[in-house]
Amino acid sequence: MKLASVEYNGKTLVGIIEDKVRILDVPDMHSLIERGLRDLESIEVRTLELDDVKILAPIVHPKQDIICLGMNYLDHEKESAAFDGKTFEKKSDNVYFSKRVNRAPGPGATIPSHRDITECLDYEVELAVILGEDLYKAAKEQTYQAIFGYTILNDITARDIQRRHLQFYAGKSLEDSCPMGPWIVTADEFSEEPDLRIRTFVNGELRQESRTSLLLSNIGEILEELSSYMLLKKGTIIATGTPAGVGMGFTPPKYLKPGDEVRCEIEGIGELTTFIGD
Ligand code: MG
Repeated sequence: MKLASVEYNGKTLVGIIEDKVRILDVPDMHSLIERGLRDLESIEVRTLELDDVKILAPIVHPKQDIICLGMNYLDHEKESAAFDGKTFEKKSDNVYFSKRVNRAPGPGATIPSHRDITECLDYEVELAVILGEDLYKAAKEQTYQAIFGYTILNDITARDIQRRHLQFYAGKSLEDSCPMGPWIVTADEFSEEPDLRIRTFVNGELRQESRTSLLLSNIGEILEELSSYMLLKKGTIIATGTPAGVGMGFTPPKYLKPGDEVRCEIEGIGELTTFIGD
């Protein structure tokens, strides 16, 4: 099932995407996650045509910072080491960082180029996990039942700001730099560790291509480890890392520039296309 936040007549609504949109009687996606997915027919209020709504990010205003993984695909770990003039030796412990997202842009949105503060804006396609239950000190096998669903997330990054500071936080948190969407596909549509093709195209040129089965730490391992440290509340969004082919990985680097079209795709979810503004 595909669950989306949509704009209709100036209002934000939540619905099930099929050939039409089945609008649900909840104020936002947070409320639906809180309520759960049982008996959705009982809160269905109307049906809208797809052409009459604008699809937004499924969670427009995350309640907490996004939890992100760095270096969770081997090929990206190698390209990042090469960028630093180092040789990749062995996988480190997981790199966790957070990303401030006041408002997530949705499909078709224009992302600011932030030219006044960065010359190195980059893209990172990621499979994002959204939790539907709280998790604390959960064994791996127990984590899967807490997953609400999955969406596509582009972890837009200012590489120069990311590297200037000791931590990634600032370079990952520029305003309007976390596109998500086009919807959440509920976890029941996938196996526990889904093997999905994941790709990015910039202006039609294939830049990133991998499979989510190549995550160095898989989803259950990530949730088990994070929940051993902290309570992960329902609604938490976790971006599981990006494969090789980011702009930084090319010689010379291929950073984003005004006018670029960035299309992120994950098999079984869909595609998330955004544009870089002035
Ligand atoms: Mg990332």
